[in-house]
Formats: sequence, C-alpha cells, structure tokens
Amino acid sequence: MIIILFGPPGAGKGTQAQLLEKNRGLVQLSTGDMLRAAVAAETHYGKKAKDKMDAGQLVSDDIVIGIIADRIKADDCKNGFILDGFPRNVAQAQALDVMLAEEGVKLDAVVQMEVDDAALVDRVSGRYTCAKCNEGYHDTNLKPAVEGVCDNCGSTEFKRRDDDNAETVAKRLDEYYAQTAPVLPYYAEQGILQQVDGMAAVNEVAAQIDAVLAA
Ligand code: AMP
Repeated sequence: MIIILFGPPGAGKGTQAQLLEKNRGLVQLSTGDMLRAAVAAETHYGKKAKDKMDAGQLVSDDIVIGIIADRIKADDCKNGFILDGFPRNVAQAQALDVMLAEEGVKLDAVVQMEVDDAALVDRVSGRYTCAKCNEGYHDTNLKPAVEGVCDNCGSTEFKRRDDDNAETVAKRLDEYYAQTAPVLPYYAEQGILQQVDGMAAVNEVAAQIDAVLAA
C-alpha cells in the first residue's frame, strides 16, 4: 500500500506515519527527516538544503525528488510506504507519478489531515522529542509523567527542531498555502483524496485513517 499523509506543519503527519509503520508494516518516508539527517551529516545535499530549511522555505525540487526516487527503490519499500512531507508542490506530485509508474506501482490514497490554523503555531512551537528514542512531547499538552524524564526510555536528554520556532513556523505555513495546498486538486481529480479530522485525539485520527484506507 502506498499512502500520502498530507497537511500543514503540525497536522500530525509524523505521528500518524509512525503508527501506520508500526501497525501495517509500511515504511515511513519523511523528506524532512531525510533532509535533517543530510544536514547533520554535512553531505553535499545537506549543505545545499540547510539555509532553506532554517528559513522555513522549500528545498529545491531536484534534491527532494532525487532523494525519494532513490529511496522508493530500496527493498524495505516493497511492502509499501507512507510519504510524509512529500510531495510539497505540483511539480513534485507529477514527478512522483512518473517514479511510481516506472516502479509499476500506484498510489492507494492521499489522506488530507484537516486542522485549525490557529492551533498549528502552538502545536509546532511547543513540541520536542526524546533525544534517544524520539518519543514526542509538548510543552503544555503532552508532558512526560515525570518532568525531564522520557516515559518511553527513561532518557533525560530532549531535543527541539531548529525550525520549530514561532517565526519559522509562520513562514512554513505560508509556504504550505502558497505551494503545497495547490496539490490537493491534483489528487482530487484522480479520485484518491480523502479527509480526516487532524484536530481529533491521536487514536481517533488513527481510527479515521484506518476507515479511509479500508473503504
Ligand atoms: P518537515 O519535517 O516535513 O516539516 O520538513 C522540514 C523542512 O524540510 C521544510 O520546511 C522544508 O524546508 C524541507 N522539506 C521537507 N520536505 C520537503 C519537500 N518535499 N520539498 C521541499 N522541501 C522539503
């Protein structure tokens, strides 16, 4: 099964992708995670991407399309995958169609996570993760049971993304509406676009996604 989770920053794409990975054996392909790894490793692509990411702007299409084109050929993608953060404009969506056709596979669903804009800046600027196991937390909505200690692995080290600050989040939202939202009609025309309520609780959103994928 090949699924796109679609929505603005803070919609919960990463959280739901991780659940789908765990429950359905699909692989989460997050271009944001791949780019952050490239930045940390100071690769050629990472160096080119860093300034754009810090500014909340999209990284160039040739970089992200190249990354995804290579990644979907890997053996672990043969059972299917979830695209999280790709495509982010119409050119990327068109490139994806070409790549999938070359692999002889097709998209099963594009799941749009609908969210209330006003909640997004707070959701994103308050989020952080365990530096060891990546468990997600939030300053006000989702604190660890014992302050400063990860519920999942007991680590006391946490991290925040450089671009999860209020100013950059606002820019990332602008980019979403200017460049990414126009992809929605592209998938609506193909008859594969479905909506879920991204404001619901995590397990409720997961149930809605399950229902959409079963339909
Ligand atoms: P994300 O983790 O999906 O929020 O992505 C973090 C940042 O990585 C974005 O603000 C962009 O700078 C960059 N990025 C991630 N995916 C893409 C993409 N498909 N196209 C262009 N830039 C991307």
